[in-house]
Amino acid sequence: MKLPIVDHPTAAKPFVTNEDRSHWHDDALWFVRVKRDRQASSVPEWEYLRERASAIKTHTIANLGDYLEQFERNATARGATVHWAADAEEHNAIVLKILRQHGTQRIVKSKSMLTEECGLNPYLENNGIEVVDTDLGERIVQLREETPSHIVLPAIHIKKEEVGQTFHTHLGTDAGASDPQYLTEAARNHLRNKFLAGEVGITGVNFGIAETGGFVVCTNEGNADLGVSLPKVHIACMGIEKMIPSLADLSVFTRLLARSATGQPVTTYTSHFHGPKDDNSELHIVLVDNGRTRLRGNDTFRPAMHCIRCGACMNTCPVYRRSGGHSYRATVPGPIGSVLSPSRDAKSYKSLPYACSLCGSCSDVCPVKIPLHHQLLAWRGELVGNGLLPLSKRVAMKTASFLFQRPGLYRTAGSMGRTALRVLPHFVTHNRFNTWTKARELPKPPRESFRQWYIANRGNPQRRDSVNGNATTHANTRSNGDAS
Ligand code: SF4
Repeated sequence: MKLPIVDHPTAAKPFVTNEDRSHWHDDALWFVRVKRDRQASSVPEWEYLRERASAIKTHTIANLGDYLEQFERNATARGATVHWAADAEEHNAIVLKILRQHGTQRIVKSKSMLTEECGLNPYLENNGIEVVDTDLGERIVQLREETPSHIVLPAIHIKKEEVGQTFHTHLGTDAGASDPQYLTEAARNHLRNKFLAGEVGITGVNFGIAETGGFVVCTNEGNADLGVSLPKVHIACMGIEKMIPSLADLSVFTRLLARSATGQPVTTYTSHFHGPKDDNSELHIVLVDNGRTRLRGNDTFRPAMHCIRCGACMNTCPVYRRSGGHSYRATVPGPIGSVLSPSRDAKSYKSLPYACSLCGSCSDVCPVKIPLHHQLLAWRGELVGNGLLPLSKRVAMKTASFLFQRPGLYRTAGSMGRTALRVLPHFVTHNRFNTWTKARELPKPPRESFRQWYIANRGNPQRRDSVNGNATTHANTRSNGDAS
């Protein structure tokens, strides 16, 4: 599949320049971040849990082949059918084949970023199958023909008034209604009919457990359980990195997941599935690679496979919060998306590692201790090494390197620059060619460089001694020295 070239600054512009929406989005996500902080600080062993989760993931990914085979054996012994998909196309074809075998016309699907990644909805719809996303946020974006902008809060970019308008158009609710209670009730009634009509239920997987062959799906609305309890067929789509070794390990992750994701002590529904629900039912588990093995083979970026998709790195990221998830043009946006997307296609997603201030907040909150900002920095190095840095940045960096290696030239350029910035008209620096000054004013240039100031005030031993020895002589000189 050919991927588009993503230019994050351009894609982010409409969101960033809509100040009202950008601030409101920022506040909404910060609210979730604060809830997360409160929950994290209420668990004394929080840091121990993070260490433990990271260690379990490191061990599992190192032995992934063994655990996947163990999972397949145990899941099959429980009556499930396990399928293996090398990529998105294969995943979609497997799902369609199962649906065709059952003559399915419509499915109900709970939230699954993997099916988003594989483009399952449009694929099935193009093959004449009605797909209903049953997570409320996902249903809202589906009705609006958008993609999720956040992996946990898919409709976080949409205001309740806009949801009211969408429901008025598609579900016939009152025009102008924006009361969340009223809108949620309307969505419930609408989805109830869809649940009753669903012929096959599709879910994602949060954790697959090698020891038992079972898997766990976490939702806050119970829609995964509702979606698979009536149909005879349940298809679970699972990225191979979702594997954990044992049931005992699960408790570490369930304690971290909800707290990191939404600031709740526990997800409302943590549903365990072990084989088909009865003798008349089928459970299909599709294990999907789609680039994960390639990522596993990369020493630098392998820890990105630890991700449990909690979204905490997005909620804290100052760039994500202000630019919105759609600006990343990827299934997984934010810091972890900016690590994962270039590993799919470095050329297409080369701007994403630069959509980062390297503040490190993402690494601080990540429950599985992925060193996200280090990985984003490492990606920049990779992009430079592969000649994927834009020409303007390449020229700027080469010029800077040239100047920094020649102190005399650097001083002359600095002096000329300070003079030029004082006398040249404003438009010379603030024009469409200089993106840096688009939203900034430059500070007034000083008459002397720091070096000149330093030599005059601190670097001159005679002067320094006299500053230290005679405070009155140089009363105007700022000094931390002891003047006694
Ligand atoms: S990288 Fe860490 S913080 Fe971000 S979604 Fe994954 S687990 Fe959560």
